[in-house]
Amino acid sequence: MVDSRQQTGGDPIMPNDLRSFWMPFTANARFKRDPRLIESADGVHMQTPDGLRLLDSTAGLWCVMAGHGRKEIADAVHRQIGRLDFAPAFQIGHAGPFRLAEELAARAPGELNHAFFTNSGSEAVDTAIKMAIAWHRLRGDGARRMIIGRNRAYHGVNIGGISAAGIGANRRQFGSLMHGVDHLGHTHDLQSQAFSHGQPAMGAEKADDLLALVELHGDENIAAVIIEPVAGATGVLVPPEGYLERLRDLCTEHGILLIFDEVVTGFGRLGKAFAADYFGVEPDMITLAKGITNGTVPMGAVLAASSIYETFVDSSSDSVEFFHGYTYSGHPVACAAALATLDIYKREDLFARASTLAPHFEQSIHRFDRHRGVADVRNIGLMGAMQFDPPVAGRKSQAAIVQATCYERGLFTRAVGDSLVFSPPLTITQEQIDEIFDTVESVISET
Ligand code: PLP
Repeated sequence: MVDSRQQTGGDPIMPNDLRSFWMPFTANARFKRDPRLIESADGVHMQTPDGLRLLDSTAGLWCVMAGHGRKEIADAVHRQIGRLDFAPAFQIGHAGPFRLAEELAARAPGELNHAFFTNSGSEAVDTAIKMAIAWHRLRGDGARRMIIGRNRAYHGVNIGGISAAGIGANRRQFGSLMHGVDHLGHTHDLQSQAFSHGQPAMGAEKADDLLALVELHGDENIAAVIIEPVAGATGVLVPPEGYLERLRDLCTEHGILLIFDEVVTGFGRLGKAFAADYFGVEPDMITLAKGITNGTVPMGAVLAASSIYETFVDSSSDSVEFFHGYTYSGHPVACAAALATLDIYKREDLFARASTLAPHFEQSIHRFDRHRGVADVRNIGLMGAMQFDPPVAGRKSQAAIVQATCYERGLFTRAVGDSLVFSPPLTITQEQIDEIFDTVESVISET
């Protein structure tokens, strides 16, 4: 057990009044009646102030790939703040983002050789959308402004991402935010795909939804398609065999850019650096965040193909080519954290480790295939979901009930809708995977 006083060199911060902090994506009133706080974390565990030790089966929020409390990252951040805490990012540079971009390009598939830095996945998504629209315009194709997303997708909460994504609850409060957006149907189908191990065999033809949208809007008006190669936040929706390949071909055929949102799948979740490598499908851009710094310091990035970068840079020899950027783009401290993180991934060969653990994870999660009340079990790499039958009207979802009881028994899981999702740190052991699903099994058998 780690004493947080040793880790921080001081007493943990304790709030006096919970009302001041307006919590994100949280039922504030309910939380503040019955708060749950985390005080410290190490390895694959987190700990509450009253000493409850939680096995973290979700890597925080899909981000702590190398486990919590990595000293190498803490040291790199400490050294960086001492040397250069901040430097302006516009019209002047420092070594960090150049070095980090080189490292990312070396790991990225094919032509994805250029990194634009942001501070979050949401910002990466909006950056990629703007990049796509501006790229077409620079090439004299200014009518291509439409963005095609997909139902049951999550692309963060900024205006582009929330519009392109397909989660009603995240949009209803705001109405239509970005014009010129349409959506493919999602790929999940309980009838033909339930209990698939890895990619479902059926469903590649769902990519043809794009043809219907081309027919409706005209490809001359469409800038880009953005999808998560595996949808994470809506319950691990694994692409059917051949789907991504077909979508890639259709985008190429119609001059539409393909953006993979790899905020969740990047950095080893499927056993490769990127899902693009895993599926052997190369998009024109990849959006990243989370695992880029192992969750330690906020950072996101867009990886863009050379042909995109060169179009921008060749468009002017003297003035700003892309009117976009953040005060903290390529922040020195985030870069130091990211470089230390990439070093850990490489030194500990964590992506290969994920790949080695994936069959055991698959076997373990599919032990629930025949459980009463379980409607589907899905998995790929080290991510998976267990979907329960819908609750009787007015009742809480079974996933939320199981999650709450697991928490009391020392297991941190995540409920999204009717599904319980799992995405442990890549440092997890086989025994700890067993512990996750043993706990879930005992809870399910009682509830
Ligand atoms: N894109 C995907 C696929 C995500 O899962 C998320 C967050 O979970 C985001 C974008 C948004 O990232 P952030 O919360 O860092 O803005």
